[in-house]
Amino acid sequence: MPFVSVQEHIILSPYFDHLSFFFNEDWRLHASDIVSIMIKLADDGLGSISSQGVDKTLTDQDRRRLDEGVVICKEILRRFGACDEDMFLGTVIAGHPGGMLPLTEKEASSFHSDRLPENLYVADASLLPKSLGNPPILTIIAMAKRISKLCCEQVI
Ligand SMILES: Cc1cc2nc3c(=O)[nH]c(=O)nc-3n(C[C@H](O)[C@H](O)[C@H](O)COP(=O)(O)OP(=O)(O)OC[C@H]3O[C@@H](n4cnc5c(N)ncnc54)[C@H](O)[C@@H]3O)c2cc1C
Repeated sequence: MPFVSVQEHIILSPYFDHLSFFFNEDWRLHASDIVSIMIKLADDGLGSISSQGVDKTLTDQDRRRLDEGVVICKEILRRFGACDEDMFLGTVIAGHPGGMLPLTEKEASSFHSDRLPENLYVADASLLPKSLGNPPILTIIAMAKRISKLCCEQVI
């Protein structure tokens, strides 16, 4: 993601999606003949995870926002000189799963969930209270460093 265009509910960025390239049948061209733009969406926080697996679908609002992104991307590609017939869509991917144990306001300073034993912490994207719609790694690292510090303080 060398640069991003920030829209109200989505961000757009140049990104070559290898998953689409290898597994999406619409991606038939050679990699060097493809210019791709990623639409990154802060999706609605619906879905569940259980022993049966992950249950997650896009809501109507998610689809509408993705469609808005597609319109903008097509216009960008047209300005590059691409024809509509040569354009094709990528694959919808959950690249930033998170929120399985969302941090609440009450837990904001302890970073500890009441649902866990006292000496057990979670320190990853599970804590994100909602979809960021932005790359999360720096936030996850910051949280994990903070939690490791809290753990060390408890040991001492
Ligand atoms: C293609 C792609 C590109 C991305 N690009 C960016 C980017 O440019 N910038 C950005 O900020 N974010 C990016 N992300 C998102 C980012 O990688 C994730 O949000 C982040 O890695 C999540 O961190 P995590 O620690 O929560 O989980 P993970 O990094 O997924 O770590 C989970 C770990 O748990 C291990 N694990 C799973 N099950 C078990 C088990 N039963 N026992 C033991 N270990 C287990 C896994 O092997 C893994 O090592 C990208 C994601 C994808 C898929």
